This record gives sequence, structure tokens and C-alpha cells, in this order.
Amino acid sequence: MAKSNDKNLSLPYHRIVAKFGTSLLTGGSERLDRDVMSSLVAQVAQLHKRGREVVVVSSGAIASGRHRLGLARKLKGIPFKQVLASVGQYYLMQAYERLFQQHDITVAQALLAKADLVDRAGYLNARNTLLALLELKVLCVVNENDVVAVDELEETRFGDNDNLSAMVANLIDADLLLLLTDAAGLYTADPHRDTNARLISEVKQIDSEIERLAADTYGDLGTGGMITKLEAARLATASGVTVVIADGREPDVILRVAGGEAVGTRFLPVASKLESRKRWMLSGLSTKGRLVVDSGAAVALRKQKRSLLAAGIREVEGTFQRGDIVNIYDPGGVQLGCGITNYGSADINAIKGAHSRKIVTLLGYDYGSEVVHRNNLVVL
Ligand code: GLU
Repeated sequence: MAKSNDKNLSLPYHRIVAKFGTSLLTGGSERLDRDVMSSLVAQVAQLHKRGREVVVVSSGAIASGRHRLGLARKLKGIPFKQVLASVGQYYLMQAYERLFQQHDITVAQALLAKADLVDRAGYLNARNTLLALLELKVLCVVNENDVVAVDELEETRFGDNDNLSAMVANLIDADLLLLLTDAAGLYTADPHRDTNARLISEVKQIDSEIERLAADTYGDLGTGGMITKLEAARLATASGVTVVIADGREPDVILRVAGGEAVGTRFLPVASKLESRKRWMLSGLSTKGRLVVDSGAAVALRKQKRSLLAAGIREVEGTFQRGDIVNIYDPGGVQLGCGITNYGSADINAIKGAHSRKIVTLLGYDYGSEVVHRNNLVVL
């Protein structure tokens, strides 16, 4: 098939987060399974070539480190896990690098910790970086930064890559979160114990009945069983993302799910992406200040979907930091939207009305020419 036609294939999902669990990547063994990884990579590469945007969230660092160091399974706990992750992450990335290279795809690594993402500036930096990598057609592989994420401080870590992948899906406004594991999806009963167990193909709402099923379902070898997958599904569907849990060993599973085929269990989004982002940004609690823009900027934002530049800003009200949410008003005092600001209020006071070129002279540094990037802007 000609490449140009290939791009036009109608795939329902454009931006996809694909999460590969440890038990899938190791094929249930003590080490990374190259055949499994090679098949997953080939499918991601195919989507990539068709112009789809894919971010991979990959587990397997700890398993890979354990295999490299030859440490027995019973050596668990801190600091062993972190040591294993530190060793294994390198070999995990090396495996991805080699496999993606065969498809002429450049890989990047992003290690994220929860503490970074609950911080506004951290959230913004991670979002801007991941979106820029997508724009550059670089395939980013994300994992939790296990070296700094300490087990004992539960609130500082995601704890499992299911929840991390849901956060990443929210972070980059993905259309689909695909959780690939070694189970076919969510069942009506434990399929290992009950021969009448039936796969649930679609979940419209995660209610207590669904939660009970997940608690009963057999978990996999990784950190995340069905319970964490369900937590992830709840988080992602609330952010407007469709979630599919499927068996990563099924032939062409990524391509089939991305093509809209009913494989595994699909959780429908409970809000549209725009709605959820708007809700999040417009929840007055989190807005820290206001920017009043001139009429030219108001038109550029409303009609042309442009970013907000310093030149178009007339007034700054309130004290806020880079990464905070600000409300944006037109010269008539009508709110035209809100967005995450790349500059704090003191900086904007210094650069308002100025051409983007001048930012570095005025401040001594710059975070780019956009004060609010269009990616981080909601226009009402
Ligand atoms: N971050 C861990 C690893 O790469 C995996 C966590 C999980 O399995 O959810 O080994």
C-alpha cells in the first residue's frame, strides 16, 4: 500500500497511550521477552507510520534489572527495587531503542514521578515536552521514576504504571488509553476458577458492581492487577479518554484496537476531552490571576486558535507562577478563556506589550515565545 494512502486510513483514535505491563513484557518469565517486545514495537511503528501519535508507558525495568543482576526474587523492598529499576531501565530502553531503530524511529525516555506532576510547573513541563516529542515524531517511552519514587511515601508515587499511564493520557489529551496485559480484559468472574466466566466487552460506567468484579479477577505478575487498571480507567474516562484493557499477546491487538475493533474490555469516556479540560481549568479554585489582552490578541485567540503572545497582553492581575491557570479577558472585560501560563505574573508584567524576540533581553531568560500556548488554552 502506498504510504500516502496509508496516512488516510480512517482510524478512530489519533493520540494513543499504550501501556505494556511487566507480565506481558516478560511473557511470565524472569526476563524481557524479545519476541513479545518486537511484536508490540512493530505494531506501534505501523501506527506511527500512519501518522498516529503514540506514547508508550512501559513497565519491565525492575524485572529486567533483576535478571541482569541475577538477584533472586525474594530480594524485594527498598533499596533493592530502586537499584533494580535503575539498572533495568537502561536495558529496557536499550531493547526499545534497538527494536524501534529497525523501523527508523527515534526513541526518547521520560521518567515521571507523581510529585512532579501534582506540581503545576512540573505538569506543564511534562506536558510541553511530551507534546513537543509527538510533534517531532519521536517515540517516547515513559516509566515511573522508581529511583526517586520511594515506596514508603505512598502519596509521592503512582505505585503502578496503570495509574501513571492514565495520568499521561490526561496530560497529553489522548483519545485512547490501551492497557495491555496478559489477561483478555475484565470478566464476569475469575476465568481461572469459573468456567462460566464471560468477558465484558463494554463498560459505560464504572460502578460498584464493576469494582467488585475487578477485585475478584485474577491479578497479573506486575504491580497492577485489575483493581489498578480500573482506577486508571476511572481516571482516564473522566478526562474524556476511551480505555481498553486487552491481552497484549493477541495478534495485532494494538492495530485492531486502534482501528476500532472490539477487542478486550472497552470503557467509554464519561466526558468529552474538551469538557473535562475546561472543567479542570475553569474550576475557579485553581485559577490564580487574570490577563487582559488587546483586541488583536482577542481575535487571534477566538478566531484563529493562536497562542497568546506577550505583545497582545495589556494588563496582569494577581500573583501567580509559571504553570498556574489564568483567566483571560478581552478589552471589554468579557472572559474569553483560560489557560496554563508559561510565565509568572512578575515576568508577564515585565514583558507585556513586547515582541517575543525581546523576552530574553527583558528577563534574562525565556520559556518560549508563547505566554499561553494554544495547546494549553481553552477558549470559551
Ligand atoms: N515501574 C515498574 C517497572 O518498570 C513497574 C510498575 C508496574 O508494574 O506497574 O518495573
